[in-house]
Amino acid sequence: MSGHPHLQAARRTVWNDHGGHDNWRIKARDARSDMNETKKNVPEATAVHHDLLGGLVRLHVLHHASEHEIYGQWMIEELATHGYRLSAGTLYPMLHKMERDGYLTSRRERDGRTVRKFYKITDKGREGLAVAKRQLREFRDEAE
Ligand SMILES: [Zn+2]
Repeated sequence: MSGHPHLQAARRTVWNDHGGHDNWRIKARDARSDMNETKKNVPEATAVHHDLLGGLVRLHVLHHASEHEIYGQWMIEELATHGYRLSAGTLYPMLHKMERDGYLTSRRERDGRTVRKFYKITDKGREGLAVAKRQLREFRDEAE
């Protein structure tokens, strides 16, 4: 919204200051200003529609966990390159639930003073990923 540079500056500050917290949260007023989205507004736009896009985020996680072990911070940075700004407070519960649901399995590894949790995909996860890829193609063929 080019008419409100002060609002954009304020929003950037909020996002940067709360990098470790729940980045999904965004004020409704700001959401309206994102209706005309540009490339640089993609993270804000995906945050506004996080419930809608949650499945896609989980598919990114499954995809990478099928190629190599992943851990939370790496996944947060990877998702950011795709326009998803997730905080640890959003991603970690998502990973935990995917593990409870049998899509991921994890192991812990000590790295100096911290213990890092690594995830990889399970057979059920591979099956789910294959089904989702097929359905994504189905959707793309119809919607584009
Ligand atoms: Zn990716």
